[in-house]
Amino acid sequence: MTDCIFCKIVDNDIKADIVYQDNQATAFRDINPAAPTHILIVPNQHIESVNALGAEDEQLMGHLFRVARQLAAQEGIAESGYRMITNTGAHGGQTVPHLHIHLMGGQPMKYPMG
Ligand code: 5GP
Ligand code: ZN
Repeated sequence: MTDCIFCKIVDNDIKADIVYQDNQATAFRDINPAAPTHILIVPNQHIESVNALGAEDEQLMGHLFRVARQLAAQEGIAESGYRMITNTGAHGGQTVPHLHIHLMGGQPMKYPMG
């Protein structure tokens, strides 16, 4: 998608602090971090939100969780714990319409956020 900010990050058309990338997923630090570790994990292909997921995306979603687990270990927050959030639509607080998982930790997380 040409005017999607996360597609542009995936394609390296705009700058981001990318911490992981493979042929299915990209992870980069949130520009406005809400915790010491705040990473966004996105599918490389443009999927607008959880609402747009199909059966063909099941492997991909499992992969995003596995990338999150790996990044949590890399960030040193696996044992202390972390929170993963995926916002969907207006009431969910989704501001970027490209599916993403927030991975946050490094401090006790308060709930609810925002
Ligand atoms: P949402 O509100 O859709 O769940 O989360 C979108 C997140 O993307 C926000 O936490 C916001 O700070 C982050 N974000 C928005 N634009 C950019 C950007 O250009 N670069 C990076 N690294 N993060 C962004
Ligand atoms: Zn996109």
